[in-house]
Amino acid sequence: MGLGRVENKVAIVTGAQQGIGFAIAKLLVQEGAFVVLTDINAAGGKNAVEKLPKDRVLFLPHDVSKESDWETVFEKTLSWKGRVDILVNNAGISGLTKGFHPQNPEHATLEDYKKIQAVNAEGTFLGCRFAIKTMKKTGGSIVNISSRSANVGVPNLCAYAASKAAIRSMTKSVALWCCSQNYPIRCNSVHPAAIDTPFWDPMTQGEESEKKRKKIAREIPMGHMGEPDDVAFAVLYLASNESKFVTGAELMVDGGILAGSSATPRIIETKET
Ligand code: NAD
Repeated sequence: MGLGRVENKVAIVTGAQQGIGFAIAKLLVQEGAFVVLTDINAAGGKNAVEKLPKDRVLFLPHDVSKESDWETVFEKTLSWKGRVDILVNNAGISGLTKGFHPQNPEHATLEDYKKIQAVNAEGTFLGCRFAIKTMKKTGGSIVNISSRSANVGVPNLCAYAASKAAIRSMTKSVALWCCSQNYPIRCNSVHPAAIDTPFWDPMTQGEESEKKRKKIAREIPMGHMGEPDDVAFAVLYLASNESKFVTGAELMVDGGILAGSSATPRIIETKET
């Protein structure tokens, strides 16, 4: 049982069928919210909601890069609960999965670059726009899941890093726009790194997978990867009224990675690199 930190608030969490998104949805439910979980993977989404209390959750299929899907998600959430208090723009792709080309700035294809922006950056922009329209009278909190890759260069993830930097900047623009219009909406970004989810599979699977995971852990000041819950607790704070004077902020959840600096370019090895 939770403490009711988001009691009876209505939340939408994108990309929620697994990983960080599912952990966020689960924690918000535990803390008293009604949660709409959305994801492009409809089968996974249906399984995910079965693990949560039926009267508290709804799953909606959703491709965050499609404007018409966003319209449907907001319409259905409003007809389910009459308002939206929290939007968590979590859905994202790394571009390291099958079908994508190497993503360094010398060889990345424009097509891949655009696909990654469409989901990560444009998806977040659309979510913010629909949330502002819906919440501007009733108020609310938007939490955008960025990445530590927004704050530093990542040599062989240039499209992903640029998309996450766009989210970081978008967050601050949304925050200030809402202040300037006297909309009671806050907007903040969370910057995870090295959280143990299926996101890391392309980088850790295959030969010597254990060795690869240990190498990742060694590069984190805290010495181990994070868990989806570590991000969910940060989101919970920003979604709740506890953060009522916090807007346009960025919260690192990275085991200390960005606390230091290294001039060594780090190449993430994948089969396709
Ligand atoms: P994940 O791959 O496990 O989950 C991502 C989810 O997004 C999946 O359920 C997927 O089906 C969904 N998704 C993909 N494209 C979509 C689309 N077009 N529309 C709707 N849903 C879509 O990844 P995760 O680790 O849980 O990552 C969640 C977020 O956190 C992502 O934005 C990711 O970039 C960010 N992040 C993760 C890490 C990490 O270490 N895991 C680090 C930094 C940032």
